[in-house]
Amino acid sequence: MRRLLRLLPGLWLASLACQTPPPAAAPYLMTVAGPLPAAAAGPALIHEHILVDFIGADSTGYHRWERDSVIPVVQPFLEAARAQGAQVLMECTPAYLGRDPRLLQTLSEQTGLHILTNTGYYGAVGNKYLPAHAYTETAAELAARWIAEWEEGIEDTGIKPGFIKISVEVDTLSDLHRKLVQAAAQTHLATGLTIASHTVFAVPAFEQLEVLTKAGVAPEAFIWVHAQGEPDRRTHLEAARQGAWISLDGLNPGNQGDYVVMLENLRAAGLLHRALLSHDAGWYTPGEAGGGDFRAYEPLYTTFLPRLRAAGFTEAEIEQLTVTNPAEAFAVRVRGL
Ligand SMILES: [Zn+2]
Repeated sequence: MRRLLRLLPGLWLASLACQTPPPAAAPYLMTVAGPLPAAAAGPALIHEHILVDFIGADSTGYHRWERDSVIPVVQPFLEAARAQGAQVLMECTPAYLGRDPRLLQTLSEQTGLHILTNTGYYGAVGNKYLPAHAYTETAAELAARWIAEWEEGIEDTGIKPGFIKISVEVDTLSDLHRKLVQAAAQTHLATGLTIASHTVFAVPAFEQLEVLTKAGVAPEAFIWVHAQGEPDRRTHLEAARQGAWISLDGLNPGNQGDYVVMLENLRAAGLLHRALLSHDAGWYTPGEAGGGDFRAYEPLYTTFLPRLRAAGFTEAEIEQLTVTNPAEAFAVRVRGL
C-alpha cells in the first residue's frame, strides 16, 4: 500500500500527460455574481424574498419599481442578516412575480451577501403569475426557456439562476402544474439545478416526487417548500426517507416552538440531514408606500438558534441545518436515477 502511495504522484502526472479528464470540479452554488464553492458558502437563508410584485403576470415588469428606491429600503435588512452570520440568501421570487436579477446583483455587491436567483414559473394562486405561453407550450418548450437562462443568463443580464423555483396548487396536481413539474425535471437533468417547489401539503409533494422519479430525477433534487404547512408531520419523515428536502421556511417569532418539534421529529428519525430552515421574509411590495412592511431576516439567529440549543441541539447539528444542508441542497449537480 505504501508503495502504491509513492507511485501515485507519478500516476497523476502520467494521467495528465494522457489528457485524462480532470477529477470532477468541486461542488459549487451559482450566485448572481457567479459560481461559489459550496465548501465556502457559510450559513444560508434558503428561502427569502427581496421584492415581490403581486399584480399578476399580465401587468408586472421592471417599470413597476425603481431600483434606486428599493435598495435603500432593503439593504439595511440584508446587512443586519449578514451581521447575524448569514452569508448566503436564496431569493425565491420567480419570474412574473417580481424577479429582478440586476437588483439582486447590486444588493449582493453592496452587502457582501451571496445571493441566488432562480428560473421557473409559479403556478399557485390560480395561475395568476403564469405568463400566457405557460398554457400553450409543452414541458420541453418551457424547459428550453429555463435551460437557456442557465446557459446564456437571464434576459440580457448574463446573470444565471442558482436553482429552479416552481409552484403548484395545494391539492392534487392539475395537468398544467404537472407540466411545470415535468419542465422542472427536464431542466434539472440538463443543468443540475435543484428544484424548489412551493408545495405546502403532502398530497402534491408526493405527486411531484412521482412525476420527478418517472422522469429520472432523484428525490434529492427536490425541495418540498413550505412543508411546515402540512399538519401530518409523519409525511415529512416519509418524504425525507425518500431523499427529498424538507423546507421549514416560515420561521417567525410566534411559531418557533412548532419548528423545534418538527426538527426533533426529524432528528429522532435520523433525518436531520434532509431539513432546511428559513423565514420566507422580506417582501418589498411595489405599489405600496415605501414598499410596505418589510420583514427582517433575523429571528432564526436572534431567537430560534438559542431556542434549539436550549432544546439540546448540538453545535454540530446547528451547523448541519444552517451550513451543510443548504450547501448540499443547492450544489449544482445532476441527481439522476
Ligand atoms: Zn416564498
